[in-house]
Amino acid sequence: MTHDVQNQPRALENYNLYDGDAALKEGVARQGAGWAANDLADFGAASGTAEMLELGHLANKFPPEFDSHDRFGHRVDLVRFHPSYHQLMSRAIGQGLHSSPWTEPKPGAHVARAARFYMQSQIEPGHGCPITMTFASVAALRRQPDLAKTWLPKITARSYDPRNIRAEEKSGLTVGMAMTEKQGGSDVRANKTRAIPQADGSYELIGHKYFVSAPMCDLFLVLAQAPGGLTCFLLPRWRPDGVKNPLQIQRLKNKMGNRSNASSETELRGALAWRVGEEGRGVPTILEMVALTRFDCMIGSSAGMRMAAAQALFHCGQRSAFGKTLIDQPLMQNVLADLTLESEASLALTLRLARALDRPDDPHEAALLRLATAIGKYWICKRTPNHAYEAMECIGGSGVMEDGPMPRLFRESPVNAIWEGSGNVQCLDVLRALGKSPESLAALFAELAAVQGANAVLDRHVEALKKDLADPADAEFRARDLVDRLAVALQASLLVNDAPAFVADPFIASRLAGRGQHHYGALPRGADCRAIIERGMPAPL
Ligand SMILES: Cc1cc2nc3c(=O)[nH]c(=O)nc-3n(C[C@H](O)[C@H](O)[C@H](O)COP(=O)(O)OP(=O)(O)OC[C@H]3O[C@@H](n4cnc5c(N)ncnc54)[C@H](O)[C@@H]3O)c2cc1C
Repeated sequence: MTHDVQNQPRALENYNLYDGDAALKEGVARQGAGWAANDLADFGAASGTAEMLELGHLANKFPPEFDSHDRFGHRVDLVRFHPSYHQLMSRAIGQGLHSSPWTEPKPGAHVARAARFYMQSQIEPGHGCPITMTFASVAALRRQPDLAKTWLPKITARSYDPRNIRAEEKSGLTVGMAMTEKQGGSDVRANKTRAIPQADGSYELIGHKYFVSAPMCDLFLVLAQAPGGLTCFLLPRWRPDGVKNPLQIQRLKNKMGNRSNASSETELRGALAWRVGEEGRGVPTILEMVALTRFDCMIGSSAGMRMAAAQALFHCGQRSAFGKTLIDQPLMQNVLADLTLESEASLALTLRLARALDRPDDPHEAALLRLATAIGKYWICKRTPNHAYEAMECIGGSGVMEDGPMPRLFRESPVNAIWEGSGNVQCLDVLRALGKSPESLAALFAELAAVQGANAVLDRHVEALKKDLADPADAEFRARDLVDRLAVALQASLLVNDAPAFVADPFIASRLAGRGQHHYGALPRGADCRAIIERGMPAPL
């Protein structure tokens, strides 16, 4: 019969995103959050239900809409979201993805939170933007104890309240971030927004912000020029007296990806704000926040890779061509194994840095975190688009169709690389770290030294890297080359230490043995692709 459906796989749903992810389970235990395993397994089971995955689909199918005024002419700056978005926000906040390491600090708290955020982002990454900003804002707000005392209890509360009312009336608050202006995003020193001191110690902000994501947040960290220079401010959406603070949304951005999340162009027309940190210290203050949002970009992109690889593996395990299941075709095995290796390497680096976040008082961990966050943010986020595309191709023509998850994964994939400091900016930050804190490079090489002798190819790579890093000539021009090599060295060392040899060996052989650039699916002979595929398979076929 023409319309008998044959050789079509079933959807990847009703599976456990934790139990079905060996690399995640092992990584969580290794990096110090084994105590969270049972809760993470429950979270993973709930994350993989058909209903939960559908929320992710709907939140993107019905993107947010903007109303500047109500029907009576009052300015409201209201962004309306599909109910699915609110359900995802509610779950994320209810689970403490925006605050658990702050409210329940203990060894492994960042690792456990990273694991949850990794699973939640696989359902839908767009709502992760306000979750991340709220989480990261805590680091900056701690610089201003009076504001921290007033606002942190509600910012860290596990209560999602999307109402468009003043913060004082709410039980839980979300925080956004407004730095970028038309004339400069990477170079925020070019900011022109002015901050005018008021008699009561507050400021009035006048200017325009070209990108303000999640504009329904209750509070925003904003950069503006005060008399003493570029300064960080906390700006409420509604003034405490109940009057709408004139942070006026002009329009929502028409984005290629990240559709569920609203991003806006916003005008500040004398908006009330409070200073965070000293005048003139805006960049270092907001960098406290940005260091954490950059880390979350690593989680988000690793999650995108995991979902893409999981979809490809599950599909190819069921689909046949030329008389054989795709997963049994040698060339497809090579592609699937390679996608799986990349995904595991990204997760390994992410969880390793979560462990470093858990140990801020350990000088080695702090030094490693300083350098490796820039390296990881650059490398992992940049590896994601091609990974998403290749996974899409594994699914064939249906992979391109909007009724499945692949187009969404693909459209989302470049975003993390661009915001929170684009690729070149990260590489320049690596050079800055090398210059300002040589101990960070020493920490990284100590990590690499720990696996010295385990793999000759990796050893040679590290020696060459050391030599090239010692040469300061044309460092800016060479920065991508150096950071690429640092990133893969670090990933390789983690896999050597922690993953089975059938994962680490082909990763190193394909990426470090000097065989040149290649597409996914060019693992050298001898790679045990079946073992890698079995390890990566998200659910029984
Ligand atoms: C979906 C989305 C949401 C966003 N949300 C927010 C938000 O909520 N709040 C906010 O403040 N911003 C937000 N942004 C803005 C984002 O942070 C900026 O776009 C980003 O920082 C880059 O700034 P830019 O667009 O001005 O590009 P530019 O600064 O003009 O950079 C363009 C390119 O030049 C490169 N470059 C810059 N300097 C150098 C150099 N010295 N050497 C070599 N190359 C260099 C950059 O890496 C980049 O590739 C968002 C962006 C997107 C895409």
